[in-house]
Amino acid sequence: MSAEKSGTDGHKDGQKVIMKVENLSKTYIRGKIPVHALRCACITVRKGEFLAIMGPSGSGKSTLLALIGTLEKATDGKIILDGTDLTSVPEKLLPRVRREKIGFIFQHYNLIPTLSALENVELAMRFSRVPKKDRRDRAKTLLEDLGLGDRLNHKPTELSGGEQQRVSIARALANRPALILADEPTGEVDSKTRDSIVRIFKELSEKGQTILVVTHDPEVAKECSRALQITDGLIKDN
Ligand code: ADP
Ligand code: MG
Repeated sequence: MSAEKSGTDGHKDGQKVIMKVENLSKTYIRGKIPVHALRCACITVRKGEFLAIMGPSGSGKSTLLALIGTLEKATDGKIILDGTDLTSVPEKLLPRVRREKIGFIFQHYNLIPTLSALENVELAMRFSRVPKKDRRDRAKTLLEDLGLGDRLNHKPTELSGGEQQRVSIARALANRPALILADEPTGEVDSKTRDSIVRIFKELSEKGQTILVVTHDPEVAKECSRALQITDGLIKDN
């Protein structure tokens, strides 16, 4: 991989820095008017952190996630994730870097409706380094660990919202990503289901999985290791 290797091995409190966002900015042009969706964001995330990003609608949360998820290009700044500068990865290599380093969780689950829970998780490993013969076993283990051992062959429409979100968590974990990005992952579920999803995130982070969650819900943020506020594209690390 030609992407730059640098800068994520600093230590503090015994925890490795897994991601460094440096002076990250995104300006959209609407008509002829610039919209500063993100201004000079600096965030340091340590391995195993369960980090919440909170802010009102239009404050830049989705923009930040899209930039870190390499779905959008930054106007300025850097994102160094697990030793790779995401902002300098050539376009052609982005799908692979994204697949290997980042797991995505969406508010609406985004599962493939024609595939079973097992097949949805397996599919995430289709182009990955997991050997073909091991993919089904790994998908099964992940789903079983999330309490879905008796739902392996169910299609998304045959699952509750909470179950669908657990399938999507299993899918996000499939390639052992350095970072999980979740955009309002509990936006569509009742409070009991929300609490169980948050508990899963907490347990994963205690095992060393780094998770960044965008949420409106103070009950979710309360359970995170740290919550950052974003307002008008300005975010302050603490
Ligand atoms: P949030 O997710 O916090 O609601 P967004 O990141 O979606 O906020 O948006 C931040 C700002 O950037 C808003 O003012 C929004 O209108 C603007 N914006 C987002 N995407 C685009 C785009 N593709 N083109 C122009 N403006 C955009
Ligand atoms: Mg948004």
